[in-house]
Amino acid sequence: MGPASVVALPLRTRFRGITTRELALVEGPAGWGEFCPFVEYDDAEALAWWRCAQEAAHEGWPAPVRERVEVNTTVPAVGPEHAHRIVAASGARTAKVKVAEKGQHAAHDLARVEAVRDALGPSGKVRVDANGGWDVDGAVDAIRALARAAGGLEYVEQPCASVDELAAVRRRVDVPVAADESIRRAEDPLLVVRAEAADVAVLKVAPLGGVRAALRMAEEIGLPCVVSSAVESSVGLAAGLALAGALPDLPYACGLGTADLLAADVVTAPLHPVAGVLDVPRHPPVPDPELLARYDADPDAQQWWTARLRRVQALAGTPAPGTSPSTRSTPR
Ligand SMILES: [Mg+2]
Repeated sequence: MGPASVVALPLRTRFRGITTRELALVEGPAGWGEFCPFVEYDDAEALAWWRCAQEAAHEGWPAPVRERVEVNTTVPAVGPEHAHRIVAASGARTAKVKVAEKGQHAAHDLARVEAVRDALGPSGKVRVDANGGWDVDGAVDAIRALARAAGGLEYVEQPCASVDELAAVRRRVDVPVAADESIRRAEDPLLVVRAEAADVAVLKVAPLGGVRAALRMAEEIGLPCVVSSAVESSVGLAAGLALAGALPDLPYACGLGTADLLAADVVTAPLHPVAGVLDVPRHPPVPDPELLARYDADPDAQQWWTARLRRVQALAGTPAPGTSPSTRSTPR
């Protein structure tokens, strides 16, 4: 494997408190892989992300069973007019709406989902994601109110933080419950199944260690799956699409339309959905050298990612790549 390219891509709007997405791209005999664990993740947690990059670069992906994947549009915790514009512009038939945002109130969420329903029309699907932001009673009240305001919810994603709370909410509401953080950051992702805590599993290919590992996880979980992104560049998104393309059943639109969240990408033809649909790639797209140069991360970030890569590769037992110089003054 050659040296890693570390880039910093500007985001259109703040996400998880960041305005640029830093990531490392590595090239191997099978193509390009993306290594992009969020900067606050420790090396042990970053290891699965490395395995995903390795799979793309060295092994390639299993053959898909479908050529296209329907994706949802994502509505951040914005005001109702903005939410309406996002959905109308996307052409998607499914919208995932952020709710339970810190510093906002139930009225904000209700106005947002009403606007989203209005933009989608009666046949569209509205799902909400609380990112674990409610307690059990709060979730039950909020879900019932949101379902009324939205004229029906497809599902509610991660209403509470813990698996026990998810199970308690699920027993009390009719809206299906999807588990996201409870699978991707859990010691034991199957706890959700044993606790009967979810109807739907949200899978992210990088934190699960690649397409093959995620397919095995999907089989073990045995629930309908939705493949979602971690705001990767189009190189990393392609791995998510490879997973969505290879899952035996894919009953829901996937959360892979996130190239739109980036103001820049590393490929000349980013994976932007058209009318809510993305093609399943057979191979990772190849980054454009000019774009890699344009969005090259600053020397401190290069050095930090290079050191991180070396440590994670050491954990994985794979050889370190040749890499670049300089020091980073600020801690990350
Ligand atoms: Mg989520």
